[in-house]
Amino acid sequence: MRNFELIQPASLAEAIHLLHDGDDSARVMSGGTALMLMMKTGLYAPRRLISLGALEAHHSDISADHEGGVSIGAGSTLTAVETSPVIKRSAPFIAKAMKKLANVRVRNAARVGGALAHGDPHMDLPPILASLGGELVILGPNGERKLAIDSFYKGYLETGLLQGEIIIGVRLPSQAGWSSAYLKCTTRAADDWPTVGVAVSIRIVSGVVAESRIMVGAATDRLTRLKSAEAALHMAPPDAVAIERAAEAAAAEAQTVDSSSGSAVYKTELLRVYMRRALAEALLNGAVQ
Ligand SMILES: Cc1cc2nc3c(=O)[nH]c(=O)nc-3n(C[C@H](O)[C@H](O)[C@H](O)COP(=O)(O)OP(=O)(O)OC[C@H]3O[C@@H](n4cnc5c(N)ncnc54)[C@H](O)[C@@H]3O)c2cc1C
Repeated sequence: MRNFELIQPASLAEAIHLLHDGDDSARVMSGGTALMLMMKTGLYAPRRLISLGALEAHHSDISADHEGGVSIGAGSTLTAVETSPVIKRSAPFIAKAMKKLANVRVRNAARVGGALAHGDPHMDLPPILASLGGELVILGPNGERKLAIDSFYKGYLETGLLQGEIIIGVRLPSQAGWSSAYLKCTTRAADDWPTVGVAVSIRIVSGVVAESRIMVGAATDRLTRLKSAEAALHMAPPDAVAIERAAEAAAAEAQTVDSSSGSAVYKTELLRVYMRRALAEALLNGAVQ
């Protein structure tokens, strides 16, 4: 691994300044769990790492707001998300999904900001938060902006972050009236990287699906919102016929890719099956809530 300078800025403004001062190789470091692996393999060779460790006390709150939404500071560990009473109350399936993300050592070190900024389509958190209508709160040289998570990923390890920008948090709208589920298919242990990850959120009004958000990760080269599956559900009664139509639409729309965990054709079939199961589970969760 190439030598690098590790800087611990005392404020977010200083971190942004350091990130924006002409060295394109400079990187922000949160938990370092992904970054260190990429540096060891030579994929990234930054001359400068800007650690957010000293700033986390200021951006690691997980709190509910007056409108029923939730704010998650980017410095929160994945363990904090898993154990947060606020998360358990407003979106309990997030806490459940965290238990099967990697292992406790990774969850203790990895931060929400790192999990969202990394841009690996196999990550569990992005599809989950995107299906809940989550928005990133991003701070950069031109101030703060918000960006929907479902449109943040541009390709493999490519995101909508601009030079000098840092993710400082996530905001989730109120989940009242929505029911959700996340399912992942792993080829080895249950807490392994997914081969396919499916996150769905559905809102039923007067016996029909009024709105839905349907995301697929891992099987595609980037997190993808499946609009045709959403269209297949729109204004339909949430029954087996609608679920089947949505699963078929998802399989037809998703641009699955070949990888060491399976061929594109295999992943399309997995997607069809997991989409059916995730939709059925979301409907069941809705009935229970
Ligand atoms: C053994 C192992 C198993 C794993 N299994 C899974 C799994 O099953 N499911 C899963 O989802 N993940 C899995 N992971 C990945 C893990 O979730 C990520 O490594 C982790 O979420 C990254 O978070 P971090 O805080 O360590 O990020 P870092 O490694 O610090 O950073 C990752 C990237 O994000 C950038 N970055 C970090 N923070 C910010 C920020 N606030 N703003 C802007 N950019 C930022 C960095 O510059 C870097 O490019 C696994 C990892 C390991 C090591």
